[in-house]
Amino acid sequence: MSTSSTDHRTFVIVGGGLAAATAAATLREEGFDGRLVLLAAERHLPYERPPLSKGYLAGEATLADATVHPADFYETHGVELRLGTPATALDVDAHTVTAGDETITYDRLLLATGSSARRLPLADDSGAPVAYLRTIDDAERIAAALRERARLVVVGGGWIGLEVAAAARAAGCDVVVVEPLEEPLLRVLGPQVGHAFAQLHRRHGVDVRTGTSVEDITTAGAPGVALVRLGDGTTVEADLVLVGIGAVPSTTLAEKAGLKVDDGVMVDEHLRSSHPDVVVAGDIARAHHPLLGQHVRVEHWDTALGQGAAAARTMLGTGEPYERLPYFFTDQYELGMEYVGYVDRDGFDELVVRGDLDGVYLAFWVRQGRVLAAMHTGDWDAMDDLRAVVRAGAVDLDRLRDPQVPLGDVLG
Ligand code: NAP
Repeated sequence: MSTSSTDHRTFVIVGGGLAAATAAATLREEGFDGRLVLLAAERHLPYERPPLSKGYLAGEATLADATVHPADFYETHGVELRLGTPATALDVDAHTVTAGDETITYDRLLLATGSSARRLPLADDSGAPVAYLRTIDDAERIAAALRERARLVVVGGGWIGLEVAAAARAAGCDVVVVEPLEEPLLRVLGPQVGHAFAQLHRRHGVDVRTGTSVEDITTAGAPGVALVRLGDGTTVEADLVLVGIGAVPSTTLAEKAGLKVDDGVMVDEHLRSSHPDVVVAGDIARAHHPLLGQHVRVEHWDTALGQGAAAARTMLGTGEPYERLPYFFTDQYELGMEYVGYVDRDGFDELVVRGDLDGVYLAFWVRQGRVLAAMHTGDWDAMDDLRAVVRAGAVDLDRLRDPQVPLGDVLG
């Protein structure tokens, strides 16, 4: 890429996750042969996170399976990969970014700094064994605890909490999940589907405590043991407290650079920030979504993948608006599910269920006659139809409620 380059521009990618690595590959696929630098804070090759809380903990995948590109990809594609080198300063007017002892002048820059685990200070300050799950190093630590059949208290009934709980039960660990709301995943899935997840875990032997919080954590004099006192007055003993209470977008660099930030870096449908030469992708991007008609920030694998590629095209000036619907999936025990769409803070007024909430079913979140989101459990052929229904939005609700009517026939 060096001596024979026809493009004399320098593009810098800040971030070492899926969005960043995907953008690097897309830039080369699309013919960019200028200088390409990727600044990654972690010391590992860019990797995908879904396996960390699923296959890897279950012993079904190796960490090598999680890397986005093999080690030689970066060299063969002329990507200057700087691992363990977080960007520390960004000057968008001067077009410079600083990392380590180097300041690089760029023509276009992609910010894909991701997010970090939200901390629970009372756990951090307890001196008890506490873990978060965000990185490969975190996953290795938790996997080791599961091999030891550690007794686990999981704080937070979100995706991390439930996926780790499932892996821990499969490894034979005792697991207590503590969720302050009335059901796990309540804000994302609502009470009925949240309850179905709670019951799934109870059937597999997890002690799911909802509507209660962690009040205090101590070691009770034994450093390897945590005593977790809950709001319901009970105390649970654990060998590891796993905290999964959400993620915080890593926007410090963007804020200091003066980019417009409001729960994420504000970007248009081409993922352009308030400075035209800075593009943003993944967990930190709060992007205007043409189909949803609002800015959304999505912390899921599929968005990192799709926006990584879209951001690369925007850097090249060939991008289309990013209008892929938010999508995510999970695997817990025998249950696999996929979800597509977006329910905003205004929520939904009806949940349409086809099938059995304790087994295989389709669910549709509806507001004012429009389908906002849809999901299946264990019906892997359903996704195309679910996507079409959510894209259409307006449907014939009576037909949707009738499981005998094929989904292709419900569109209004
Ligand atoms: P999450 O899915 O946002 O869930 C966090 C859960 O913890 C929520 O139920 C939240 O309740 C609860 N919580 C918040 N503060 C708490 C506290 N002080 N004590 C106890 N519970 C508390 O976040 P996560 O599970 O930590 O996952 C981190 C990120 O990775 C998320 O963006 C998630 O979507 C993503 N992820 C996705 C997948 C997947 O798609 N399969 C898998 C793993 C991770 P409230 O709603 O009341 O705040």
